[in-house]
Amino acid sequence: MNEELKNQLQNTDVPRFQADLIGWFEKEMRDLPWRENQDPYKVWVSEIMLQQTRVDTVIPYFNRFMEQFPTVQALAEAPEEKVLKAWEGLGYYSRARNLQAAVREVHENYAGVVPDTPEAISSLKGVGPYTAGAVLSIAYNRPEPAVDGNVMRVLSRILSIWDDIAKPSTRKTFEQAVRHLISKDNPSYFNQAMMELGAIVCTPTSPSCLLCPVQDHCEAFRQGTQRELPVKTKKKSSKVIELLTAIVQNEKGEVLVTQRPEQGLLANLWEFPSFEKLPESETAQQTVQFLDSDFYVKAEVKDTEWMKQDHVFTHLVWKMNVVTAESINPQISLPEKTEWASLDRIHELAMPVSHRKIANEWIKRHKERDK
Ligand code: SF4
Repeated sequence: MNEELKNQLQNTDVPRFQADLIGWFEKEMRDLPWRENQDPYKVWVSEIMLQQTRVDTVIPYFNRFMEQFPTVQALAEAPEEKVLKAWEGLGYYSRARNLQAAVREVHENYAGVVPDTPEAISSLKGVGPYTAGAVLSIAYNRPEPAVDGNVMRVLSRILSIWDDIAKPSTRKTFEQAVRHLISKDNPSYFNQAMMELGAIVCTPTSPSCLLCPVQDHCEAFRQGTQRELPVKTKKKSSKVIELLTAIVQNEKGEVLVTQRPEQGLLANLWEFPSFEKLPESETAQQTVQFLDSDFYVKAEVKDTEWMKQDHVFTHLVWKMNVVTAESINPQISLPEKTEWASLDRIHELAMPVSHRKIANEWIKRHKERDK
């Protein structure tokens, strides 16, 4: 910890800071389904869902997930396909896969009880320092830091920390600060209050300082630098890939779908055949060649620009141009993990959000046409 931060922490009236923060949280906390009790399994699932996803989006997913997998045992024993389907639309599917792998380990090695020590919980798949700290503090009342981007933003302002929060090493500085500030009597509320403050008061672009319960303790507010903090260097811009995505129908009205590989991006999810568009090459011709070489399907293209859809990943953007086609050799045998799917089957499959949007549009237009 650098001298400046040490001084700043020494100048902070820690008991009053804790009382102001926790007192505000007790009055203002939002009513969220994972706050109904301190069940560590529920806290864990909610924290994984909340990574990169907004609270309003997560609530209905969380409720449905808990209806389907209410316990460690239920999730451990569920088929992966069902878990991915329940996760569909939340994105970042490796979170769901890692969660289930870790829950299986808890079921097998910890008698279904989420471990309550930093060492044990951190050894579980997909459980990083933030999730470990969140579960240990919120569910088990352990004074462990739970530092994510929100907490770094809030603390960088309160303590006037100018380290670059985009650097992984900076998290340690914030963890040390939280260890100094955290309430030993109520670490659960302390950490939740920090997260809540970041979500509804100390927001990224327009912090509501005049309504802030810890304004008296905030160095950035005192200096008028709250809009300059946190320091965060810009990420490199995302790589853009142009894809052609084919909706190929057979004579029964079924559509060609294929499962992605077991490893890597969007592993095991189902999608419509997609391939990178070659510059300079003609869309219809390229689609026909790809379907023939990769799926043994001879096809006739119907519409070369049926729909456009983007899929934005952290470092990558797919720009998808959807092409429709009809197969003209119905009796062929398809490659592995590829099938002709009826509309009902398409409903059941776990798909990436971009392909799900395309599927929904396809189904909608079908229904309109059949009216
Ligand atoms: Fe954030 Fe403003 Fe509160 Fe400081 S006073 S913690 S900048 S909302």
